[in-house]
Amino acid sequence: MNQVVDNYRETLKCHSCNHTLEQSFYCFFCEKIQEIKGKLNYFSIFGLETTYQIDLNKVDEAFDLLILVLHPDYYAQSSETDKSLALEYSTLLNNSKATLIDPLRRAKYLLSLFSPLTDQASTTPPKGFITEMFSLQEELDHAEETGTISRSLKKEIEDLATQTEQFLGDAFIQLESKPEDKLIITTIQEEISKFKFIRNLQDRSQEIEQKQTNLH
Ligand SMILES: [Zn+2]
Repeated sequence: MNQVVDNYRETLKCHSCNHTLEQSFYCFFCEKIQEIKGKLNYFSIFGLETTYQIDLNKVDEAFDLLILVLHPDYYAQSSETDKSLALEYSTLLNNSKATLIDPLRRAKYLLSLFSPLTDQASTTPPKGFITEMFSLQEELDHAEETGTISRSLKKEIEDLATQTEQFLGDAFIQLESKPEDKLIITTIQEEISKFKFIRNLQDRSQEIEQKQTNLH
């Protein structure tokens, strides 16, 4: 495991009762909100390993539980510090969930943890890929004009997204064992830049489908 993971593991004890915590915000044992020293990573908030392939059910479960105990209503009689902590953590919790449940945002975030100085905007996908994207964009143009999207086009776009996610999962596993490897980092950057194109197709495809459903 890399340092990103080890750093937060050390801090996972309740400051009040010393009970071991699954996450850093709140102790369910003595029901105290925690003051966090140092920086949290989005994965640790949900008690997850810092890795690309994650169990989204765990994110949902931890989110539902935490957002409840951080609700402002519970802190009406609390100290100002606890009030502002609850508010701060709720915001952080929402941002973290939004980042982790989105495979593209999750990849960008995880890469930024491994390689904080990497300029993620500087990479462009290979030419062959761009050509493939153009042809799919044209098919989408046509679908927009006719107002219907074929199942095969929809599936092709979703398959591309799934493949990209799987590729990223494998690449991040490699990066975990060799966190400094420039070649792996570049490969991930390139895959992320592809994902941005694919995401654009996904959005367009969903939009066409939405309109199609609304008409019926
Ligand atoms: Zn406690």
